[in-house]
Amino acid sequence: MMTSQSRREFIATTLVIPVSILAKPGRQQPVPAETPWYRRTYRWGQTNITEEDPARYDTEWWREHWRQTRVQGVIVNAGGIVAYYPAADPLQHRAETLGQRDLLGEIVTAAHKDGLVVMARMDSNRAHEPMFRAHPDWFAMNSHRVPYRAAELYVTCIHSRYYDEYIPAVLREIIQRVHPEGFTDNSWSGLDRDSICYCENCARTFRDRCSAQLPRAKDWDDPDYRKWIDWNYARRLELWDLNNRVTRAAGGPHCIWSGMLSGDVPSESRRFRDLKAICARAEIIMFDDQGRTNASGFQSNGEMGKRMHGLLGWDKLIPESMAMYQRIPTFRKSASPDPEARLWMLEGIAGGIQPWWHHVGALQEDRRQFRTAEPVYRWHEANQKYLVDRRPIATIGVVWSQANTEWYGRDQAESRVLLPYRGIINALIRSRIPYLPVHIDHVGREDGLSLLILPNIGAMSDAQVEALKRHVSRGGALIATGETSLYDERGSRRNDFALADVLGVHAEDKKTRPVYGGPADHSYLRISPDMGSGERHPILRGLEETNIVGFGGTIQKAQPAGGTNVPVTYIPDFPVYPPETSWMREPRTTIPAVVLQQSGSRVAYLAADLDARFACDNLPDHLLLLQNIVRWAVSENIPLQVKGRGFVDCHLYEQPGRLILHLVNLTSAGTWRAPADELIPIGPLEVTIRVRQGIRPQTAKLLVAGGPGSVTAHGDWMAMRLPSILDHEVIVLE
Ligand SMILES: [Zn+2]
Repeated sequence: MMTSQSRREFIATTLVIPVSILAKPGRQQPVPAETPWYRRTYRWGQTNITEEDPARYDTEWWREHWRQTRVQGVIVNAGGIVAYYPAADPLQHRAETLGQRDLLGEIVTAAHKDGLVVMARMDSNRAHEPMFRAHPDWFAMNSHRVPYRAAELYVTCIHSRYYDEYIPAVLREIIQRVHPEGFTDNSWSGLDRDSICYCENCARTFRDRCSAQLPRAKDWDDPDYRKWIDWNYARRLELWDLNNRVTRAAGGPHCIWSGMLSGDVPSESRRFRDLKAICARAEIIMFDDQGRTNASGFQSNGEMGKRMHGLLGWDKLIPESMAMYQRIPTFRKSASPDPEARLWMLEGIAGGIQPWWHHVGALQEDRRQFRTAEPVYRWHEANQKYLVDRRPIATIGVVWSQANTEWYGRDQAESRVLLPYRGIINALIRSRIPYLPVHIDHVGREDGLSLLILPNIGAMSDAQVEALKRHVSRGGALIATGETSLYDERGSRRNDFALADVLGVHAEDKKTRPVYGGPADHSYLRISPDMGSGERHPILRGLEETNIVGFGGTIQKAQPAGGTNVPVTYIPDFPVYPPETSWMREPRTTIPAVVLQQSGSRVAYLAADLDARFACDNLPDHLLLLQNIVRWAVSENIPLQVKGRGFVDCHLYEQPGRLILHLVNLTSAGTWRAPADELIPIGPLEVTIRVRQGIRPQTAKLLVAGGPGSVTAHGDWMAMRLPSILDHEVIVLE
């Protein structure tokens, strides 16, 4: 137990904010009473309570931190793996130091007293040994009938009564005791795709529902394995609905349950979480993506926000758990460098995500982690009306598909699906071109998208193919790469690209190896003069001083149809070493790397995997080619220009009568690698935005620098100059 003296020391040493700026209690802004909590809770906090915390959780200290950070909602550990209240069932493991304390009840009471919303946090995916001994049929088994373990815990089977009956009973008990506004669950979706459960429940239910035996092993072409995957996806949705029925029946119509999700599509596919179907039934998405990786960058947070809002709608909220601790390598008890956590938060906010600070443990010896959230949260509170319920503006859609991740990506989803998508997104961000992620089933739904980009979307249903053909037949532009449309919706190869007519290419015989080259080859691309006029094509702009660019990737074998233009061809691999041998054996081929077609709509087919290569290698020549191809395809119909030095991620939105532009300065982080430990100002930036629906403002409000900025009109464009940006700026034009 913490002594009163040590508690005083703890408080004295952790209150780092000057008393003069402490907020008064009862600060919550009035909101219409009829607005449910999940539509009006914009700032969140979570102290992820560990088993030693019940002995030392200092409620008053945390209440003060809630006030300082202006949170409106907290996520409080409740039950599941560990109960933080005296649960009726002794088999639900109580926290080691809980004793008779009802920590959950105390925290919820304090939060409610302060006007905060509470989501009770569950973790339903494991349990302790006594539970396993009492109910072995609730636990997942491998093919040798050995239970799946995670350290000392046992993994529960998602197809068992643990999920049908036990967890619902725990949810009801928690509602009855503490009345949380809603529930979330850290790890709610059971074993992932790499572990087949052979428990009796699974065998029986699968036989009954799917008329098949459980698959013996992973085999993507086995009809029973495919049924097993479908059955698993369906079960997660069934549980989502069941949990919501339970919580609403016991806690009222707004007492909803929302399991945590991540924005990483390959990982969500491995966990059988159908993001589109979940967003169709969710009122709020609780996002668990704590920070960046070197491969994804801060910008991935803005991308995920826009992608998930595309499914969920822009009127709903997506809070995201953001680590205040050091993430990679992980030190749960050390503070993240402030700029690292801050830039992740700012990118999320730019993408429509709501901040949710996250600490592991109720007592921290590295008190620097308590400083990071407050300034961002105070800024967020002051400007919140501009940060929610808005619509993105873009003329370019980047198409994604979870089914493609599953059935085309299979066990190589990262390289086949994620990298091409990431390469395109990063090329657009680096070029400061606004884009929207578009789910393939929503093609045709978004207005104003002149260009759709298909980054190696191999697997497509016939209906999806037809929707893309309609886009082109209506004059829409298209860029497709690699194996796009070469497989059906289950990932079986077609005889030709389903989009062959649109793309202006046909696949070569599938019996031979379907590609030239491969990653790490010493290969090149040859930039050819335009065959008609002898002049270079606009997609080669900026490369006037060279006839070749380094490549080192894969070329899909494809035959161009008549009437197409092939401005870029392939130069095969030749030795790097020894230097005497490093000469091109085949300096010229007719192997197409880029095929362009302009009959009504502009269409580009990239046989060269420039998308995946740019994601991996970050070469400026690849960026230039991708950027030029996009600009050509969309005929320069881009609503935003930002000029000036630096790596700036731009997000453009509208609200009625108002335009909002986020500029996030990622310059310092792009220079080296994680974590960022310094912010480096950039500027000046010249920003030009196309006039939209008669919005023609004279002044711009700067939400970070403060004060007005002057705007000059140039025909259909508005221009302004930003002297400097440190971490981010948000411009409001109205
Ligand atoms: Zn099972």
